[in-house]
Amino acid sequence: MSLVIPESVRKRLAPTVAQLEPYDPHFTPVEINLSANENSYGLPAVVAAKVADALVFAPTNRYPSALADDLRSALAVRHGVVPERVIVGNGGDELIFNLFLAFGGAGRVLVNCPPTFTVYRTYAELLGLTVVDVDRDESFAVRTEELLEAAHSHSAALTVITSPNNPTGTVMGIDEIDTICGATDGLVLIDQAYIEFANPGYEATALLDAHPNLVILRTFSKAYALAGLRVGYVLASEGVIAALAAVRQPYSVNVLAQAAASTVIACADACASTIARIVAEREALRMRLNDLAHRGLTVFPSEANFLLVRVPEAHRVWERLRDEHSVLVRDFSSAPGLEGCLRVTVGTSRENERLIAGLEAVLG
Ligand code: PMP
Repeated sequence: MSLVIPESVRKRLAPTVAQLEPYDPHFTPVEINLSANENSYGLPAVVAAKVADALVFAPTNRYPSALADDLRSALAVRHGVVPERVIVGNGGDELIFNLFLAFGGAGRVLVNCPPTFTVYRTYAELLGLTVVDVDRDESFAVRTEELLEAAHSHSAALTVITSPNNPTGTVMGIDEIDTICGATDGLVLIDQAYIEFANPGYEATALLDAHPNLVILRTFSKAYALAGLRVGYVLASEGVIAALAAVRQPYSVNVLAQAAASTVIACADACASTIARIVAEREALRMRLNDLAHRGLTVFPSEANFLLVRVPEAHRVWERLRDEHSVLVRDFSSAPGLEGCLRVTVGTSRENERLIAGLEAVLG
């Protein structure tokens, strides 16, 4: 069902939102949904049981802890920082919004590196920021020199880099992040929503002490399988965290979400085996997809829980996978820089087999 803003309503909208359309996640009922980069395995049974216990005893008659104190402390310990350098949000999305709300505003510039997560542009525009795009190169790497040039010449308030990047799976080295933070006056958001699936050495947390302008975004939606509960967090300087605390809605992270996330973080070791399994499945799936090269398919390397592929007649392939094989992937083929591209979330081995069988049939 698509939502339509009628002209009679649209003409009353604030100028900053007048061009927007309601968000459409492009969900269709299918047997196999590989379209949203969720954790296809869910929580390990032992962790799910502990979460269930925690939810039973969560005091839902009370307002939640505004800053999610217990969870915040647990995350601080996990990342070796003081709790004042952590803030929890209703999903990473809310924290991106709050960051742009606090540090954006009309006349300010955000430097963005497309093709990337489209939420940055949407929220930036909603909040009056001007977006300056520095396109990634043909292998989807950030053009660092151009990025720094853009950040300087526009005195950018914010620069956003996603590592691993969605939807390309590309990572940025820590040395490069270090250079960018050091050479930029504005805040640098390093969105690491998928970092748990990357090879070791790409985590930006090691740079926090060196750079007061570094803001790191993490989420429980991917590796920690809590997309449905909406929990994300930011690690940054105490000052930036205080500013984010000032603009946030006090009770946005509910009691159940806090209880579940605290339990999951206490069981992080048990979750590690699922993460390793997803990474192994990703590599197995990448090889299977590579075998379809002779049918015109190209698969890009990825350090996340999804793979980007380029196929001939991509939109038609996407439609036929959905309609004839009940497999939903994400169609990026009409997005600039992603011509012919589909993004497939790594599923369970059975789901990945269905995807491969579908692609084999569709690509002929
Ligand atoms: N950043 C990136 C790059 C993402 O892909 C996503 C989810 N699609 C998010 C942030 C936000 O995730 P969530 O709101 O579920 O925490």
